[in-house]
Amino acid sequence: MNKNTFNLTRRELLQKAALSAALLSLPNLTGFTSIPQYKPTGAPAGKTLYLTNAEVIDVVRGLIFSNQTIAVRDGIIRSVSSWVPDAREGDVVLDLKNQYVLPGLIDAHCHITMPGASALNAGVLWAVINQLKRNYIQQIRQGVTTIRDMGALPKTLHDNLALIQKGELIGPRVIYCNSFTNINGGHPDLDPGEMSILAGLLMAFTGHSNMWFKDTEELKEKMRLNSAGGASFIKLTMDKISVLCGKGNIPAYSDEHLKIIFAFAQKNNLATAGHIHTKFGFGRALQFGLDSVEHSINELLTPEEIETMARKKIFTVPTMSVVQMIAAPEAYDELPKKFRTDFIEQGITERRKYIDSNLTEFTELSIHKANLAHLANYKKYGCENLYKNKKYMANPEFYFNIMLTGPANLLAMKDAGIVIGCGTDAGVPLTYHGTLWREMEMLGRIGFSNAEVLRCATFNNAKIIGMVDKIGTVDTGKIADMVILKENPLKKIEACRRPSLVIKDGKIYDPEKLSFAT
Ligand SMILES: [Zn+2]
Repeated sequence: MNKNTFNLTRRELLQKAALSAALLSLPNLTGFTSIPQYKPTGAPAGKTLYLTNAEVIDVVRGLIFSNQTIAVRDGIIRSVSSWVPDAREGDVVLDLKNQYVLPGLIDAHCHITMPGASALNAGVLWAVINQLKRNYIQQIRQGVTTIRDMGALPKTLHDNLALIQKGELIGPRVIYCNSFTNINGGHPDLDPGEMSILAGLLMAFTGHSNMWFKDTEELKEKMRLNSAGGASFIKLTMDKISVLCGKGNIPAYSDEHLKIIFAFAQKNNLATAGHIHTKFGFGRALQFGLDSVEHSINELLTPEEIETMARKKIFTVPTMSVVQMIAAPEAYDELPKKFRTDFIEQGITERRKYIDSNLTEFTELSIHKANLAHLANYKKYGCENLYKNKKYMANPEFYFNIMLTGPANLLAMKDAGIVIGCGTDAGVPLTYHGTLWREMEMLGRIGFSNAEVLRCATFNNAKIIGMVDKIGTVDTGKIADMVILKENPLKKIEACRRPSLVIKDGKIYDPEKLSFAT
């Protein structure tokens, strides 16, 4: 990272000192899991790893090639063929008879520096700190070898990327934008410092996830700093309405701001991705030629809107599983009739099954328990009173509306040939890292075939994040990122829930050794 960007100011140093004192005065609460110490295996440098007798899935065409040998050397796939390998001294041969090989999965929308916690207080502090490391391991364990981080605590992100680089932390490849490029008060319209004093103090260590520019000059200066250090895209937040209960309109970019942002993106070869839930934001995405629409829209799109989106080659990452989680039935005594569709009823059942299941592998349980307890606030305060009572919770009605319109919009986009990706929005409360399989199964319930789901989570995602020449398929010349499955995911998409092995950069990870089960 560009050093100047994250040098601490005097004020931040004082905050840091105050935080250290605050942390020392807290009891070191136990009950959170330990980070597994694990080194991946594979062939040494210059030697070849042969994966033999593999059933290789062609995600572009939805086909299987049987009895293939995949040769990997120095992190790159050197060949995929039906030849029997000619292994030499030092090479490693791994027999994958009756096992299926997919390209490494990609989570095209998540927040790796967010712990999935509803609130930050002393009770969950240590679990949260631990969770921020676990996030990376959970993604790898579930076969996700690349993620696109959609808005991060920049210092924390770069600290952890350095650890991954040194081999001290196991994690996926991370494509990132650093902070959100949001106007002052724009989405996500929450200052962590507002949520808790502790979170405010922590920002000295973590950097701020919101850019929050006030004028064009500040926008230009902050964009320059924010894009330093390897950011490959700009994350915009395009709506002018808050998703929080009890909060109405929020500031949105002016046309002048958007002109400056898109000119900067073009000049610096940065992609643009926008958080969009409403037609207001969607209309501006079409107007300015945004590269990807993130999330789903709360109204039905017209055929003309879909056609324009297709013509402008705008991608989308629908993140419908996070919508399902935030559409909380806990807010209602009885769900309004208009929301009682088969798709929503099924969503509620799936959601309940998931939050009541043993989630040890996906979250520190203290974080999950606190999240569940938090849901009671909907009835305790009433949605409209939550914000003024300093309870920051998403508006369920808003998300139930997306549950109503999301599937039809998505199927229309698919028919129009729009490239649809797959992402979790993990880091949001109740949506945890390593749950891409939930979004994949959700796309299946919406009406995507298994072959289409697999393409969304690999090849399409690789296109969306601008890496399709390097990842997204199992092909000669690509980076050796692969997921090994015991069952055929073209027949049964649930096979993706439990990979038997995960390969990233040619190194082999055993998911069982990356378990958090106690
Ligand atoms: Zn997000």
